[in-house]
Amino acid sequence: MTYTFVTLFPNLIEGYFKDSILKRAIEKDLLQVKYVNPRDYSKNKHFKVDDTAVGGGAGMVMNSQPLFDALNDLRQKDENVHIVFMTPVAKPFVQNDAKRLAKKSHIAFVSGRYEGIDERVIEKYADEVFSIGDYILTGGELASLVVCDALSRNIDGVLGNSDSLEVESFESHLLEAPAFSKPKLYESLSVPSEYLKGNHSKIRSLKYALSECKTKFFRPEQLIKHRTRISYEK
Ligand code: SAM
Repeated sequence: MTYTFVTLFPNLIEGYFKDSILKRAIEKDLLQVKYVNPRDYSKNKHFKVDDTAVGGGAGMVMNSQPLFDALNDLRQKDENVHIVFMTPVAKPFVQNDAKRLAKKSHIAFVSGRYEGIDERVIEKYADEVFSIGDYILTGGELASLVVCDALSRNIDGVLGNSDSLEVESFESHLLEAPAFSKPKLYESLSVPSEYLKGNHSKIRSLKYALSECKTKFFRPEQLIKHRTRISYEK
């Protein structure tokens, strides 16, 4: 998988790949990370990349010209590149998107800044647009990293133990059951006694019940989806 981050601030992103799981994935040649800075494509003599909004309004908007040229260049170099724009006014990114995108060969994440990107760029180049939640960030870099990180876990070989993917939250709309680490007793707090008895079928049943409780409490709409799916499969 190749990731290309289209951003005015590559420094904000680079550090994330210098440690832990994604660093190892790069070392194993499972991932390759590239950067494109729209400023390098600006035809303005001061390399400006923003301007006031046509029709008025507060703040600056990212110009079309540098992004048009940068993305056109990217498409010409790889016609299969899947271009994703990060914007708060899109559908929310979910786990199924992470699994689907993990099958692509090259994804470009376009990060907005200022008050956003000239809409014509999005209209022309977006294969997909994502929001990471109902709040406004100062730029798309964190949002791009969130999507990139979540989908990287679903690329074969990236996680040391891919079994962990199967029981993770959202896999079947349920949230994962609470997990505990050793020691069994810490600061007079114990783990659920059933977890200690070694009966794996009972532990599985308890974990399932706890998953349901947790989902009902935190994400009732996911529990409805889970139950609908189960009754559909019967
Ligand atoms: N004026 C825009 C609006 O109200 O919808 C917000 C622009 S925001 C300050 C600048 C950039 O941050 C956006 O172009 C987008 O790339 C990114 N961004 C901010 N919040 C985001 C979110 N919730 N999800 C994805 N991207 C986001």
